[in-house]
Amino acid sequence: MKRSLLELDKPELSAELKALGLPAFRAEQIRQWVFARKTASFAAMTNLSLDLRKLLAEKYEIFCGKIIAHKKSTDRTEKLLIEWPDGHRVECVLLRDDRNHRTACISSQVGCAMGCLFCASGLDGFVRNLTRGEILEQILRLNQLLPHTERLTHLVVMGTGEPLLNLSALLPALDEVTANDSLDLSKRRVTISTVGIPQGIEQLADAAVSYRLAVSLHAPNDALRNTLVPQNRHSGIAKIMAASDRFFSTTGRRVTFEYVLIDQVNDHPEHARELAQLLKKRTAIVNLIPFNPVEDLPYRTPAADTIRKFVELLEQGGVDVKIRYKKGDPIDAACGQLRRSFRDDP
Ligand code: SAH
Repeated sequence: MKRSLLELDKPELSAELKALGLPAFRAEQIRQWVFARKTASFAAMTNLSLDLRKLLAEKYEIFCGKIIAHKKSTDRTEKLLIEWPDGHRVECVLLRDDRNHRTACISSQVGCAMGCLFCASGLDGFVRNLTRGEILEQILRLNQLLPHTERLTHLVVMGTGEPLLNLSALLPALDEVTANDSLDLSKRRVTISTVGIPQGIEQLADAAVSYRLAVSLHAPNDALRNTLVPQNRHSGIAKIMAASDRFFSTTGRRVTFEYVLIDQVNDHPEHARELAQLLKKRTAIVNLIPFNPVEDLPYRTPAADTIRKFVELLEQGGVDVKIRYKKGDPIDAACGQLRRSFRDDP
């Protein structure tokens, strides 16, 4: 079986090439083709001899996944469904906005064990963690969708899975794409979104890596959060807040709290007041996400008026708020939806 090139970091690739009798600068050249020049075949690496290209192609594979679906929506959002050699599939999305941001949204696991009640990703359970190479492949494949002169400007780990339960693969992949001889993405433009695993947040805080952190709160108290986010029974809001405060104090980066607004579930005025109370003394920002309807789930998006009122109450309570508008609707761009719509395929 061929080795997957994306599983190797720079020293590992150099060591492998050295074992083949090749000098270290070959590793630099190959990395440049793959990361900076969006090349997915050894044949195109024209500064390597034909023999070497052939040898590399016999031993290594750059991408090991297969694109099962590629959907484009009218707002220029594009979504890929990738199948790995073991038959499991993940989704990743390219988002474009009017500020010319080009954002990759990637998955960290196949399926998800968190079981949040309103989320499509967890409906079919957890399968496995993604590897470093599989995480990188999603990023590189999305980068390839852009014209030659453009590259990704932002990265969000907000696809399927709980990234803080797969830090051992995620952090090396993020280190790779933020390296300046690679994709050179700015660490400040990488956001990791978590259900709120206190130990994982503390690990990020202590590593003092400058990635941004988003915590999916969705409720201002444990009683309500326990019903929406089952994982909360293990963590509880107080521990999540303490870990987030530590993240802010060690990194200086303000934490974003995501809040999916669901009609008649967590959108009452008292929820907004309670949320403001929880966050007002913190240097935080709330990202409100109107619920994105999922087939098989009974929830609804609140009316525009309810959303406006919720925002007003948070602002009156001294909290910074942003609303995240939906993108890519016609292509099932909410987490897990494309994978689910293809799940009955042979
Ligand atoms: N496990 C991580 C990352 C994946 S989900 C986390 O929990 O943050 C990314 C974000 O999308 C989370 O805030 C999640 O709660 C939200 N989300 C999931 N399903 C949604 C839906 N149907 N509508 C709107 N947002 C949703």
